[in-house]
Amino acid sequence: MLLVVMPEPIAPSRAHLHPVIRSALDSAMKYSSPAAGAFKVMHLARTIRFCFAPGCPESAQSSGRVYMRCSGCHTVAYSGKSCQRRAWTDKQLPHRDICRKMAQIFNIGGRYLRREEDQDKFVREMRKAKINDSMLSEITLWLHRSFARMPSGSLPSATSSSE
Ligand SMILES: [Zn+2]
Ligand SMILES: [Zn+2]
Repeated sequence: MLLVVMPEPIAPSRAHLHPVIRSALDSAMKYSSPAAGAFKVMHLARTIRFCFAPGCPESAQSSGRVYMRCSGCHTVAYSGKSCQRRAWTDKQLPHRDICRKMAQIFNIGGRYLRREEDQDKFVREMRKAKINDSMLSEITLWLHRSFARMPSGSLPSATSSSE
């Protein structure tokens, strides 16, 4: 039997969130389709460069280190091996709980995660593969929570708006 234990909902104050994160979360919320919401947060996770380990103050820019993306899901990234290890078994948001699910989504729609304009294609692929909404919502929630606890000072300024 597969039992999915969802962590308690947290409602962090939004004031500390980096503007890039805040606006992405807002737009992810606006979509009624779980696939579109998942697209938003997975796109964001792959676009902005910062460490997904809890409490890590580093971003790829600030550390100057080689940035490592998880080889399972290709979605989250870490500033180093120790951060990856710590995040895998983290108490609040263990990455091992979600990595395989994100990997499944990435394998189906990952090629559309690079560009915001490809959202509809991503959503279509999810439908075609009959990915169920609860899994997409679970991923969206997991990434939301990860973003929400990142120290805003570590985040790079907007990368998606170059105009
Ligand atoms: Zn992973
Ligand atoms: Zn780190």
